[in-house]
Amino acid sequence: MSLYEKARRHAGFMAGALVIAILFVLVVERFLGHSSIAFGIAIIGLVAANARMLTFNCPTCGKNLFFRGMFVVPWPNRTCGKCGTELAPPSD
Ligand SMILES: [Zn+2]
Repeated sequence: MSLYEKARRHAGFMAGALVIAILFVLVVERFLGHSSIAFGIAIIGLVAANARMLTFNCPTCGKNLFFRGMFVVPWPNRTCGKCGTELAPPSD
């Protein structure tokens, strides 16, 4: 599996984690009232789940696939924005 595919799979996983985190906060608020603790748990969970994002780096120059200059986007680059290395298979 190419690095791009792994990164894309991680992006899909994070989208699911985000939905679960939002549902978790909504359910807690519904049954226990407003809780900043639930919100905090959801944020910490998302940050922990997203820590893997930092391991998706260009094999040539080490630039992270999720970074576009100084911005972080939730979808990986197909081509390295720094050195132009092709990260996705041509058929993809
Ligand atoms: Zn690169």
